[in-house]
Amino acid sequence: MIVSRRNFLRNVIRTTSGAIVLGGNLPLLSSCINTNKTTKNLKVFIPMPVQVVIDDVGWWSGEDGSKRQEPYRTGINRNHVPADYQAIADLGRTLGIRPQAAFILCEWDKENILRQVPTSTWMGDRWDNSKWVGPWLEEAAEIIRNNQNYFELTVHGIGHEYWEGGTFTRAEWSDSNGQMRPQDQVELHLDYFEKLMNQHNLGLFPKSFVPAAFRHSFGPSEDRNISLAEILEKRGITYINTPFSSMHNKERVQYGYFGIDADVMTIDRGSDEFPWLTFPAAPTAELTRPTCGLHWPNMLHPDPERNSEVIGRWVSYLKPYHEKQDMMLAPDSVAFQHQLTHHTLTKVKPERNSIVLDFTETDKLPGIIGKRELTLKIMTDKPHKFRSDGVDIKSQSLQKGSEFLYVLNLERIAGKVTAQIR
Ligand SMILES: [Zn+2]
Repeated sequence: MIVSRRNFLRNVIRTTSGAIVLGGNLPLLSSCINTNKTTKNLKVFIPMPVQVVIDDVGWWSGEDGSKRQEPYRTGINRNHVPADYQAIADLGRTLGIRPQAAFILCEWDKENILRQVPTSTWMGDRWDNSKWVGPWLEEAAEIIRNNQNYFELTVHGIGHEYWEGGTFTRAEWSDSNGQMRPQDQVELHLDYFEKLMNQHNLGLFPKSFVPAAFRHSFGPSEDRNISLAEILEKRGITYINTPFSSMHNKERVQYGYFGIDADVMTIDRGSDEFPWLTFPAAPTAELTRPTCGLHWPNMLHPDPERNSEVIGRWVSYLKPYHEKQDMMLAPDSVAFQHQLTHHTLTKVKPERNSIVLDFTETDKLPGIIGKRELTLKIMTDKPHKFRSDGVDIKSQSLQKGSEFLYVLNLERIAGKVTAQIR
């Protein structure tokens, strides 16, 4: 995936005699400056970050129960085991990333508290989860606790669907017309998601959310005076990941790959390469969007002792994206949000012997989004040492395996709307 030096030079000669700047800013795609020895043959990228999001983690039964009013679950022909949780942490640790595990928690209920939330399960107020109470719960909880840097727990739901009178409709948070469930029910489900986490000391309430079955409305849905995002924001969630293709009111999205709904960044997942039932999967499709979305079975093996074989495929598939000049794997979902914002809104242009970053558009976003770290990649044809003004260079290194592709990790300085890299 790395552009060879020869290809790079050929590319540069073909396009311009000056610096080429590529970022998310289409008008600047072909911008160049007068020939200047110090900036000649320089290409600057604000790489597009890729975040891995894994749906429907948390089930112990693998059975698709939809034909008898039970949840779809993961649809595999075996139960889930702690090794399936370890697989997520192994993927994260090998790639140096923090995959999002979008969690369904009903089968973690060891006290049958969900009898208080009859809309959350197929058994309603007679909920009985004793079948799934056993030592595997603590084993999996320990894997999650011990791999904080390589495993992010994301809210997905309690039972995934929404039950009324013994039958379910899709899905837990919104119906198939995108209408949010009644607010008191949404709040109750969130309360109990947190209680279930606390039964197992799974950590603080998550900061990210994936709507069950991707039923979601951007902004308030019909007959609702508050959006789901606003309810989530009050509980500390800052980011929602969902495909915009099935999202209601998507025309309200402001920035292409993402929109801001009640200060919550909502990011387009795009379409996954595999259906949820593919077990296991062998990824090959080119990633062109910021999210690599998959379902838990896609990364597991029918024999859990061989999960590492499937994880190995995903590692080989994802790693080259980190080495590309215009892409990177996000180290975690917070860095992902910052980087995607910069990729989309921060302007980068060459000026004499330096690169100028302009954060004017970026800074119009609410909260801390886009106000902290960002990564630049700079392709040159000879060794360079970069200095900065208006932004701190936290690190600069050569991309592994490349000749002159530099990776600069930058930290913004509060109040500085422009910065220079020399
Ligand atoms: Zn799901």
